[in-house]
Amino acid sequence: MTRKFQWVSFLSALLAAALLAGCVFPLAAAEKSWAKFTRRENSIFDTETTFIGFAETEQEFDRVWGEVLSRLRRYDQVFDAYHGYDNLHNLYYLNRHAFQEPVAVPQELFQLISWCKQQWESGLRSTNIAMGAVLSIWHEYREAGINNPDSAALPPMADLEKASGHTSFDSVVLDEEKQTVFYADPDLSLDIGAVAKGWAADAVLPYLKESMPSFLLSLGGNVYAGDKPMDGRSAWAVGVQDPRADMLSVSLGGTDILDIVDVRDQTVVTSGDYWRFYVVDGQRYHHIIDPETLMPSRQMLSVTVICKSSALADFLSTTLFVLSYEEGLALVQGMDGVEAMWVLPDGSVQCSPGMAAYARSLKNAAGGTGK
Ligand code: AMP
Ligand code: MG
Repeated sequence: MTRKFQWVSFLSALLAAALLAGCVFPLAAAEKSWAKFTRRENSIFDTETTFIGFAETEQEFDRVWGEVLSRLRRYDQVFDAYHGYDNLHNLYYLNRHAFQEPVAVPQELFQLISWCKQQWESGLRSTNIAMGAVLSIWHEYREAGINNPDSAALPPMADLEKASGHTSFDSVVLDEEKQTVFYADPDLSLDIGAVAKGWAADAVLPYLKESMPSFLLSLGGNVYAGDKPMDGRSAWAVGVQDPRADMLSVSLGGTDILDIVDVRDQTVVTSGDYWRFYVVDGQRYHHIIDPETLMPSRQMLSVTVICKSSALADFLSTTLFVLSYEEGLALVQGMDGVEAMWVLPDGSVQCSPGMAAYARSLKNAAGGTGK
């Protein structure tokens, strides 16, 4: 066989294979039919978890959901501040023992604490998970106020100030090699509520992307949208809640959605003053505490962050909630791939410039179609 003939045969074989593939793959793609399934669960992270995904069969969907749930459950236990579990050095255990001696903790908890400490050391201090001493006082008064609205009261400032003397991350001593955590200050404790859900969402991503790429996972409003939905849409539509939605009008068919963002392979995380609040003398006191004033921050009604990492988005939404809009915008603009939407106390909305690619209100205003 001449060299030329060899090449011709090779190319014709390639062409035949390509033609065959051209026939087979579209057929195969057409044969694959996707169905959308949804599951909800209320037993983890003290919130509602919603999982939506496209799978070929319900059985396949439930297999993946079962695995996601069991992984999330593990994170819920490791990050749990209120309950101990047998043979688990979780956050609850840590806060009760780490002032006595270094405590070896599961890798996922060590990594979360270590990452938060790095943020603190880099100067981002509005979200300080070492502020447990202050946050636990607010938690106690808030729970009492929710359970007994008539006797709802504010924590004495003297108590908050005393506690704030025990919130330095420098006192959290980490040993990378031994994966231990030690509190050099016996009155310090950690509260990881600002980042735990985002961290857990990121942790199940590799499994999800491999097992069911077209999904949407929401951990109480911390949303991660995977690959595009398999129903022809190019992105998932995620609602941004109106922080002051009128519940009466919602019950009459009105909407509590302020805007819709269209995303894929992105996370959407909101911090808002409408979660976990109580009322004292007609004033609302919510759960995000400004480390400077030791009071619930009054800078924002809500902040929504879009980026690739749920842990970062969770951390940043809390951070931006405490900062002024100008400080927050400067922070966001200094970061790659991070966008934010702020709802200010007067109800007005501000967005970082790149939000125009996601938010329908901005796309519509620019004459875009929005879907
Ligand atoms: P998020 O809803 O993600 O903004 O987180 C709010 C939760 O984070 C609260 O319920 C507290 O547990 C915790 N938290 C509140 N304020 C702060 C703060 N300034 N730094 C760190 N954690 C905070
Ligand atoms: Mg957060």
